[in-house]
Amino acid sequence: MGKVLIIGAGGVATVAAHKIAQNPEVFTEIMIASRTKAKCDRLAAAVEAATGYKGIQTAQVDADHVQELVELLSAYKPDIVVNLALPYQDLSIMEACLQTGCNYLDTANYEPKDEAHFEYSWQWAYRERFEKAGLTAILGCGFDPGVTSIYTAYAAKHHFREIQYLDIVDCNAGDHHKAFATNFNPEINIREITQKGLYWEDGKWVETEPLEIHKDLTYPEIGPRDSYLLHHEEIESLVINYPTIKRARFWMTFGQQYLKHLEVIQNIGMSRIDEIEYEAPLADPSTCQLVNSSTVKVKIVPLQFLKAVLPNPQDLGENYEGQTSIGCRIRGIGNDGQEHTYYVYNNCSHRAAYEETGMQGVSYTTGVPAMIGAMMFLTGKWVKPGVHNVEEFDPDPFMEQLNKQGLPWHELHDIDLEL
Ligand code: NDP
Repeated sequence: MGKVLIIGAGGVATVAAHKIAQNPEVFTEIMIASRTKAKCDRLAAAVEAATGYKGIQTAQVDADHVQELVELLSAYKPDIVVNLALPYQDLSIMEACLQTGCNYLDTANYEPKDEAHFEYSWQWAYRERFEKAGLTAILGCGFDPGVTSIYTAYAAKHHFREIQYLDIVDCNAGDHHKAFATNFNPEINIREITQKGLYWEDGKWVETEPLEIHKDLTYPEIGPRDSYLLHHEEIESLVINYPTIKRARFWMTFGQQYLKHLEVIQNIGMSRIDEIEYEAPLADPSTCQLVNSSTVKVKIVPLQFLKAVLPNPQDLGENYEGQTSIGCRIRGIGNDGQEHTYYVYNNCSHRAAYEETGMQGVSYTTGVPAMIGAMMFLTGKWVKPGVHNVEEFDPDPFMEQLNKQGLPWHELHDIDLEL
């Protein structure tokens, strides 16, 4: 039915590639392209061995460079590009899609490298060009953003006349037995968590200090966990697409050990994203051997250096126990005109995710929706020229696939939401 190009070969791309290959009737040709081709080759071989899919192609591409992307896209001619590299590459990949007539999907909104700040305006600015070109761009199709926005669209379609209060709750109750590790790209993750908090109330944004507001919330099959209010990108589009929302917030759980490490990392300057000068030992580039005791002054970004020494999120899966639980807690006016509450969520086992794809639950809960989004496009269910957040599409066929593709969801009605 269609040709897909996956960009990136990290944790999320690994899951998406497995799930794409598990659906060969939709994805008739696959290419994986990333900065390091050897990683794409290893991933293609692992996916072929696990799924029996044959003929996955690979390529090297630096997705920061539009021209390199244009050459790759012109040669391969994919129907859709699934961007699972980093948020820094969103705009260059969108630009290359426009220049070559390809449709686009991602899981995280654009961030400039030198500013820990994310918002949709940069990508929404491409709306008219995608629309005029007759191309569809699907933004934020992971779990959060992604499934959480689709849950909200489903609630609005089936259960509520008016959504008034929305709380997105994200719990990782897993244990990877490391003192400190992040569950996806450490640089992106630490930038997100150390930002100021932000939520929407009565038509305006309210800012908080980082991790200032927190409370115990009870998660299904897990129990109470301390949950912190964070700024999260899906709130930005949801309050526009559902203007009846009076308050929208995002909560994520963190353990005390994680927070203590984060505090130290910040206090000693390792979360800085500006360049600092570092006096490094001088090595011969051909042999990597040190040259006497000579040194050379180099520029490094402390957070990028930290990423290099932290555990790789892709290696956490093997001994990861426990599960994630992510969902939406909603209060509003139901179709009967009465006030109702509603909780829709998924629990995902880290071990089951690892056994199926070799990756832990956070990569799994992101990679599966990315595959389903591409499937929605290729099967004609989500084709809408322009640049769209996922809640702008019909949630029903996506929700149906979540149940079939490994992320089943559950609903609770008229319960105490704790919020
Ligand atoms: P990883 O760091 O594991 O993987 C990123 C991949 O992108 C690597 O293969 C990397 O290549 C490649 N890459 C980086 N820069 C470039 C470049 N310039 N050109 C080509 N390839 C490049 O990240 P994750 O898999 O953990 O995360 C992937 C994306 O998913 C991120 O954008 C993240 O924000 C998003 N995400 C979304 C979630 C959601 O629920 N919506 C949740 C979790 C993550 P190399 O290996 O050579 O470095």
